[in-house]
Amino acid sequence: MKTEINWEDKVRRVERLLRLKSFPVAFRLLENPHDLDNIPFMRRLGKPLTICQMINLVRNFDWTVGAERKDILFDQCSSIVGLSELPDIYKDGTFRSIVWVKNRKDARKYQESIPTIPTGRYRALAMAPLVYNPFDPDMILIYANPAQMILTINALQFEDYQVMEFYCVGESSCSDAIARCYLTGKPSLTIPCYGERRYGHAQDDELVMALRPKDFLKALKGLEDLYRRGVRYPISYAGAEMDLTSTFPPAYWSLHRVDEIRGDDGRVVVGLTGGIASGKTTVCDMFQNLGAHKVDFDLLARRVVEPGKPAWKDIVSYFGRQVLQEDESIDRKKLSDIVFRDIEKRKKLESFTHPRIHEEFLKELREIASNNKNPIIIVDIPLLIELNMQYLFHKNILVYIPSEVQIKRLMERDKIDEEHAKRILKAQLPLDDKTGYVDYVIKNDGSLEDTRKQVDTIWDELLSFQRKLTDL
Ligand code: ATP
Repeated sequence: MKTEINWEDKVRRVERLLRLKSFPVAFRLLENPHDLDNIPFMRRLGKPLTICQMINLVRNFDWTVGAERKDILFDQCSSIVGLSELPDIYKDGTFRSIVWVKNRKDARKYQESIPTIPTGRYRALAMAPLVYNPFDPDMILIYANPAQMILTINALQFEDYQVMEFYCVGESSCSDAIARCYLTGKPSLTIPCYGERRYGHAQDDELVMALRPKDFLKALKGLEDLYRRGVRYPISYAGAEMDLTSTFPPAYWSLHRVDEIRGDDGRVVVGLTGGIASGKTTVCDMFQNLGAHKVDFDLLARRVVEPGKPAWKDIVSYFGRQVLQEDESIDRKKLSDIVFRDIEKRKKLESFTHPRIHEEFLKELREIASNNKNPIIIVDIPLLIELNMQYLFHKNILVYIPSEVQIKRLMERDKIDEEHAKRILKAQLPLDDKTGYVDYVIKNDGSLEDTRKQVDTIWDELLSFQRKLTDL
């Protein structure tokens, strides 16, 4: 079916990143029950059923199912999704007191705490595996174990952080997931209830989260951002008996080096990044003309893996001679192909190179700072954001150009065709995604003069920042 968003690729990416065991469920309420007939592969069970049974048929059997009020077994189920009013025998506590609580007083309290979608608007509901683009969903249900769920929460919190609140009314977990998400518009996490385990076949270790489509996309983006920072599912264990410092992400162990990098001698250290051919070198040159000192991180990274150096030895002993060229230098393409496919190997490679690059980097900074009073040091790091290094610097700058201009400049500079240029760009983090991480964005799609003016303004701000720093 033609849907507003093409979900197939997005669902597959979430499934891969979380290794989900069952299909994410597209959930939709319909004002007109006849619209059920327009949904491809729609099945009506023809016997009374529960909401959790429907969810089970979708996520584990990959069915597309629909129901009207008359198809649903319990008034409680249909009232949660807004298809019917709750009869008095439920409201006065009788129903809940039959099994789940001691008396009708507790039962009324229980009943009142169950969120429900208001009645009057909807007369049917449909559910289907989201991956098939069955319809535009009101919300999406994900079933996952607690480790997968904490990653999903981390992913949702990656940008515009919000604490994840958790609700559990007890039985009727569909109210905590579906109705609460509908009413609050926020991702709603809960524990599948006894009924959902017995009739919906939710597994012992499963949790459920209902999300609006925009939050599903936010979770996907966050999962991909976290993956790039080395956080992924399954979560690999670090041994209880080990010295754990060696297993922390590089960003953790380098935290205490922030002071070493920034120094206390009046220097200002600025990270500068961009994408391929966005103009990093051009902008760096402009800063140098104003008096800045430059450190090229790529050069440092190449220097530490020269044949015979300690990082080179570690790489060869771990990856073997297969990653060497005839002249004994590292075959960067081959090595990057290996670590691109395997995040654990990437972490291993980084554990060989990063500490050495840091040492070189500190050496270079010390040298500049001891030969120059109050230097402003621009560090050109193409992968600043990807390696999550922006926290190391006093300030960060992004040299930005729209992707069409980037493609054009890349084609002209490297004499390649459009398709090739697009392929290179596709493998990089889009510049639009980098803007949120930096203090300054230099727009370099205009004339060189336009860029120079922006560089001049930032230079003045860096000088005034430095004055404040040295006054302290
Ligand atoms: P890479 O990381 O790929 O080495 P880079 O980010 O350092 O690239 P530059 O080499 O500075 O980018 O610029 C890429 C190309 O775009 C160069 O040919 C440069 O002359 C050109 N260029 C840079 N800025 C502008 C501009 N404002 N107007 C026109 N051309 C520009």
